[in-house]
Amino acid sequence: MNATTATPTAPEPHRPDTQPRRSIYYDYQVHPAWQPPAGEVPAAPVVIAGAGPIGMALALDLARYGVRCVLLEAQQQVSEGSRAIVFTRRSMEILQQVGADAAITAQGLPWRNGNSYYRGQRVFRMEAPFDENDRFHPMINLQQQYMEEALLAQIAKQPLVELRWGQKVTAVLRNDAESVELEVNTPTGPYVQRTSWLVACDGARSGLRQMLELRMEGASYEGRFVIADIRVDLPLPTERLAFFDPEWNPGNTVLMHREPHGIWRVDYQLPPGETPEQALAPESLKARIDAQLAMIGHAGATWEMDWCSVYSARAMTLPDYIHGRIAFAGDSAHMLPIFGVRGANTGWQDGHDLGWKLAFVVKGLAGRALLASYSQERVSAAREIIDEASKSTRFMTPPTRGFRLLRDAVLSLSLSQAFVGPLFHWRTSRPHDYAHSALNSADDDNALYATGPANGAPLPNVKLGPNNHLLDHFGPAFWLMHFADAGAVPAALVAAAQAWRAQGVPVQVVALRSAATEAAGADLCLHDPAARVATRYGVRQSGGAYLVRPDQHVCARWINVDAERLNRALTRALAL
Ligand SMILES: Cc1cc2nc3c(=O)[nH]c(=O)nc-3n(C[C@H](O)[C@H](O)[C@H](O)COP(=O)(O)OP(=O)(O)OC[C@H]3O[C@@H](n4cnc5c(N)ncnc54)[C@H](O)[C@@H]3O)c2cc1C
Repeated sequence: MNATTATPTAPEPHRPDTQPRRSIYYDYQVHPAWQPPAGEVPAAPVVIAGAGPIGMALALDLARYGVRCVLLEAQQQVSEGSRAIVFTRRSMEILQQVGADAAITAQGLPWRNGNSYYRGQRVFRMEAPFDENDRFHPMINLQQQYMEEALLAQIAKQPLVELRWGQKVTAVLRNDAESVELEVNTPTGPYVQRTSWLVACDGARSGLRQMLELRMEGASYEGRFVIADIRVDLPLPTERLAFFDPEWNPGNTVLMHREPHGIWRVDYQLPPGETPEQALAPESLKARIDAQLAMIGHAGATWEMDWCSVYSARAMTLPDYIHGRIAFAGDSAHMLPIFGVRGANTGWQDGHDLGWKLAFVVKGLAGRALLASYSQERVSAAREIIDEASKSTRFMTPPTRGFRLLRDAVLSLSLSQAFVGPLFHWRTSRPHDYAHSALNSADDDNALYATGPANGAPLPNVKLGPNNHLLDHFGPAFWLMHFADAGAVPAALVAAAQAWRAQGVPVQVVALRSAATEAAGADLCLHDPAARVATRYGVRQSGGAYLVRPDQHVCARWINVDAERLNRALTRALAL
């Protein structure tokens, strides 16, 4: 690929927003801008543009494989306004891998239920499954700036990640077979940064997407929403509240979520034609929030505005996430409607898929075909999400008279017919299943399993004991899970794993044993006395095995495995 946009003259110094935003409960910290050294700035193996939630988690993921990266952030502070507040179980599992889960769990409000109301009557109650096998709740609410701080705290401890504040990528000077060259603008002037790989995590308005002149596929929707975070004392549980066609906002939808620090999010749809300026006028905000509080039985409650904004829903993705030596992840790769809490929750899955693949390519353990699989897997995930999100968006903001009639009919029926309720429960973010991935084995015993996670599926968690879950044990490596009642792991499998390790590919053998004895040859032995893991994974006899990718997705499973079958599966999973 040839050079893209190059600026002919030196740009004006970049002036990041250095005025910390005031919040009634949060003190923004301004970080000093990084000063480029005199002379040439050293090249970095990987550069990530954008230290939002996706860029930071990806940087930490790469560091787990020993890959150094430079993280360039245009601003000098974490995200403004609360933005994302709802994070899913799968996100927490990914954040656990990079060490940021504990801080989020300690501060967040976990939840699993939602209530939908139509004309004052509850017409549907959502209860997300949750049992002792889950380390994390289905959802946890925490303002985005605290979540970003949890990631920053991990970055501060990680010498392989160099986070530079106040650095704006302004041009791609080169993107070819050898390297990428970027122009980076700072408060003291521009410099050139060279790298082998660039990941664009620069958000929904991605400058890099524009510099490469990339077009997205998908749709924008007409409906506009106000999102307001208010401090108010409401003695209500942490559950999602959705109100269709409320009296004070006829034909439209209102959502409410509880956040830590006594904050509630009120998210309401605007009547057609109302401008953002009109919607954000203080008297308009006051009248509507008062009306909503009155509707839920708290008329006259005292509240204070912390942050508000207007948004409209877009459901779009790039059709390819790899362009030469530049990869896209998170909002720069796709824009998803916020109801359904898909933005960051989808972006972390991008980063976790890309992290191990990019690390293996940087270390020379795999070729570019592995990166192509990132694009295949995550673009197809985005397209599925867009399809689902478009359905729920059309339900909330019917685009035509016909859609509105249909939606209103469903809502009316729901008053008397319980079976209708689930029709307007929109799907929230979920872990994607790479059932059609090119990395899945084709000649294993996947089809012979009646239950358990199939090839491409994310690993289900299982409680092994107090504060001890299966996924706690799976770090940055391929994992061969070998099931038996007792005894050693077959020597040929152990030797095969060692041979891969000798070439630099991290392959670990974990023995799952019902007997409380150690398994010779295993890198890790987990005791499963009641066969809870074996049952959940559908393993019926000794010798059954799963091969798990470093991002905790299954890529092969066998009734019986030997070294040759394992080697074939690993070769395929590395796209060799
Ligand atoms: C009101 C609202 C509510 C939301 N609620 C949820 C929710 O509940 N759950 C959920 O999962 N998602 C939610 N989202 C979406 C979520 O906030 C985003 O998906 C998430 O922030 C995306 O992360 P990112 O790292 O891709 O991009 P961003 O968070 O946008 O980060 C991009 C970073 O790149 C930096 N940058 C930009 N350009 C450059 C450049 N040229 N050079 C260097 N740095 C650059 C920016 O300063 C920024 O720090 C919500 C969004 C909004 C607006």
